[in-house]
Amino acid sequence: MKDGICPKCGQASVYECTKGVTYGNTGAGPFVIEGGWGSVGHECDTHSYLCTGCGYFENYIDDAEMLAKVHTIKKWTLVSPGR
Ligand SMILES: [Zn+2]
Repeated sequence: MKDGICPKCGQASVYECTKGVTYGNTGAGPFVIEGGWGSVGHECDTHSYLCTGCGYFENYIDDAEMLAKVHTIKKWTLVSPGR
């Protein structure tokens, strides 16, 4: 997707947004990595890619410091390969 080609429909109709799709508590804030309803938690911006051909989108966290902390946060569980 980052190469401009949609992995779902194969079209070169991918747009990006560096402060993209959000999943904050209100639906309007930045992505919440830690915390829940009513808490401040750790928030960061998402980098989104959206295909205008089929509507598929992907989100990435560009904040390396935040990514390094995820394993210390209880609500995030490592997915075992091949489960
Ligand atoms: Zn597509």
